[in-house]
Amino acid sequence: MGRKDQQVPDRSSAVGRLAQALKDGKRQARRTYADMAKTSSRYCAATYSRAASGTMLPRREVARAYALACGLDVEVIDGLWLAARAASRRVGIERPRHSATRPRLIYDIDDLCVGLGELREREGAPTYAQMRQRAAEAGYEVSTSTLQRIATRNQVPTTEHVLDAYLAACSVSPLRRHEWHTAWARARQRAEDADHARRDVARAEAQVAGGAGVVTAEKAVEILTHARLLPVEGYRGFRAPWSVKCGGCSLVRRVRIADIVLGRLRPCRQCQSKERAVARTWQALVEGIVPLSQQQADVVRRSGYRGLQQVMGIGTLLFEASDPDAQEVLEDPSAEWRIALEKDITRTLGTVPKLDVLVTSDYPLN
Ligand SMILES: [Zn+2]
Repeated sequence: MGRKDQQVPDRSSAVGRLAQALKDGKRQARRTYADMAKTSSRYCAATYSRAASGTMLPRREVARAYALACGLDVEVIDGLWLAARAASRRVGIERPRHSATRPRLIYDIDDLCVGLGELREREGAPTYAQMRQRAAEAGYEVSTSTLQRIATRNQVPTTEHVLDAYLAACSVSPLRRHEWHTAWARARQRAEDADHARRDVARAEAQVAGGAGVVTAEKAVEILTHARLLPVEGYRGFRAPWSVKCGGCSLVRRVRIADIVLGRLRPCRQCQSKERAVARTWQALVEGIVPLSQQQADVVRRSGYRGLQQVMGIGTLLFEASDPDAQEVLEDPSAEWRIALEKDITRTLGTVPKLDVLVTSDYPLN
């Protein structure tokens, strides 16, 4: 006999259990690594020694050859090897997307493919023939090539039967299969929705383009201008993000022509916050929260504020005057209400707003 074997570092781990079983087998068979290598010339003594070290997972063929050389039950060793492989995968070295395996976290086809692929890995990567056998035992017929395509993420189960067959092949208990069915249905629904959305976009482009089939840069700029946006770079396509400038506040943002055409363009945040700030302050003036002289307060109360129009960074306050006196006060750039309003908005927005006033009037002239 050769020198005494090193102890297995962690006999409670799956890799440790495999290593211990190999070492025990060798001792019982009274073999040395050297004569194991001689009997089976496929591997050298060092390879067998490493396989039983408990510090790494040997290749499956090495573990099997080791078992054969020592007269161990190959099936038993194979089972230990599969468990060790599954455990080493679980540690997550090769699986950064570990959490995707939880079916309730699966939302799209990509996640589903990864999750199903991992099920087989966790089972210790059984052969496809073994998997088909397991599925058959559970009452599901499925081909090994289908199982392989699903396990290698090249196919999504097309029917619930195929899904069940695959789950059974990966030893997922009937109780847990329900979760996978939900995930499967969810992912497929999402893919279908995305497909519909793509078709909607294609239809919209065809409609806008007319005979041309594709929206031209010229047409795109026209649509952009109509949406009060200005291009800051060349047009790159109907669904490509496009850098544009807000016609209201000059803020640069990215939009898609497809979103404008389909009515999905979100309003400019900067313009919106300015509009809200002005409306809030005007309301505060009306309610007397921001104090004014009696005469100014009266005018504010009887004047209709009609909103803020923004063009290239300049806001125009739109009013409807109830009488000539009110109109005069509203149009006065140094009026008390105006100074109070600008001060309050500056406090809210942190910048001095550029404001104009436009007063319309439909009171009777006399
Ligand atoms: Zn804007």
